[in-house]
Amino acid sequence: MPTSTLTQTADPTSIAELTDRIIGGGAATPAELRGLLEVEPGSPAAEALFTGAQRIRERFVGLRLKACSVINVKAGNCSENCSYCAQAAGSENDGYQKSKWLPEADIQRAAETSASNGAQAVSLVAAWKGVREGSQLDMVTASIRKFAQNGKVRPDVNLGILESQRCADEIAKAGAKVYGHNLETASSNFSSICSTHTWEERMKTIQFIKKAGMGLCSGGIFGMGETRAQRVEFLLQVSYVAPDMVPLNFLNPLPGTKLAHLKPMDADEALTTLAVARYALPDRNLMVAGGKEVVLGDRVGEVFKTGINCVMVGNYLTTAGTDPAFWTREAAKYGLEMPQGCTEIVQGACT
Ligand code: SF4
Repeated sequence: MPTSTLTQTADPTSIAELTDRIIGGGAATPAELRGLLEVEPGSPAAEALFTGAQRIRERFVGLRLKACSVINVKAGNCSENCSYCAQAAGSENDGYQKSKWLPEADIQRAAETSASNGAQAVSLVAAWKGVREGSQLDMVTASIRKFAQNGKVRPDVNLGILESQRCADEIAKAGAKVYGHNLETASSNFSSICSTHTWEERMKTIQFIKKAGMGLCSGGIFGMGETRAQRVEFLLQVSYVAPDMVPLNFLNPLPGTKLAHLKPMDADEALTTLAVARYALPDRNLMVAGGKEVVLGDRVGEVFKTGINCVMVGNYLTTAGTDPAFWTREAAKYGLEMPQGCTEIVQGACT
């Protein structure tokens, strides 16, 4: 039983008690997570939160940093209207290279580069609604089969909504180890960011992925106008689907997208949110992914003082990322190390 309950204000003592409870196998309540989101930046409570998140990380996922990377195999001209995305239908952002499904040689070259950047897994990401049975499924599975032969990085995919269980089964059979499919945001917020498909369709795809036996990578994006209560709702929904990896992105309000008018999230709020994610998902791999450089600027190395244990390296889908060596250096300041040649299950996110 909890010895104390955090509600609107979180103090260092109750945060330390909550931390001990989670380390002992307990769970935070929604009200407690909501209370943690309210900690005052720079206060003793904030310090207790970051210290606690690091303790929980060490207890459940250890101090080995994981890294992963993405390759955009089909970029731009998406049929969907996700309001945060440069590749969406209706987006006027053209500051990135559009492509049809990439030729095999290009995919293999990109895999080599990602491996030399320290990525242990690479995800093939396509900008489209998803995969349907027939010629599209045949094309995708043929490409995955060849990619899976590279032997340097884990072959993962992020191919959108799956039409059927058969699509998931065939993709798994072709060699994909992990399927990335974000919940993106709380179910109560989804219709405000996308109207061409539903949150429930995303959830159905997650069920197909799990039944096919693939690992699941599923997280979302903060800073899209959601309330703090919806951040807690989202974290608990992610906890329910129990992904192997949880990519946590921050909105980068790109010009030409529907959310271009929003301001990037405040840096302290972003760091607090990452720490609270560790309290909500104590034993999951948490990856800080897109938008971190924009939101955190020269404080981006501080991501390691939160509970994250994985970082996306190299470039994102339509924007450039930070030099991988930087992450190794910054992580070391918080006792995290990036092993070379690691083959653990990690996977990229659709940002
Ligand atoms: S997030 Fe994915 S599905 Fe949505 S518009 Fe962008 S590429 Fe298309």
